[in-house]
Amino acid sequence: MKIALNAVVSIDYTVKDNDGTVLDTSQGQEPLTYIHGHRQIVAGLESALEGRGKGESFQAEVPPELGYGQRDDERVMKVPRKELPKEMKPAVGMQIFAESPDGHTVPLWITEVSAADVTLDGNHPLSGMKLFFSVSVKDVRTATKEELEHGHVHGAGGHHHH
Ligand code: ZN
Repeated sequence: MKIALNAVVSIDYTVKDNDGTVLDTSQGQEPLTYIHGHRQIVAGLESALEGRGKGESFQAEVPPELGYGQRDDERVMKVPRKELPKEMKPAVGMQIFAESPDGHTVPLWITEVSAADVTLDGNHPLSGMKLFFSVSVKDVRTATKEELEHGHVHGAGGHHHH
C-alpha cells in the first residue's frame, strides 16, 4: 500500500542542516513509527512521504515554515534562578514545560545558565533552520481502529501499554 491518511508508517531517517551536520537520526535505534496525516511529524516531511511505498528511499528539503517554524526572539526570556522550582538543576539543552496563561502546556528549552539567571527559549532548537532529510520507508500498513482512537501506534516502534 501507499502512504496515505491513517497509514502506520515506519521510516529510517537522518536529518542534516545546511552544513551537512547531522541533527538527528534513527540510525542505531528502532525506525520512527507514526500515524500518517495527523501532524505527528513535521509538515514538510509528512507531505514528502505522501504516496510513497515500502522500500522507497528519498531526500526531502524542508524549509522552516514546514519544519519547526521561524525563530521568534520574543519567545526568549531571562528568569531569575530563584523563580525556578528549588529541586530543578538547570542545564543548557534541558527541556522544561510551562503553563501558558490560557492553560496550554508550552515546551521551553534552557539555552543559557548563569549564577543569577536562566535563559528560556520557547523556540524549538531546530526552528529557523532548513532541514535536509534522507528517508527510507521500512513499512506501511493500515492503522487499527484502536490505534486511531488512541492517536498513537501500538506494537513495534510504538506504545507497549496494552
Ligand atoms: Zn494505546
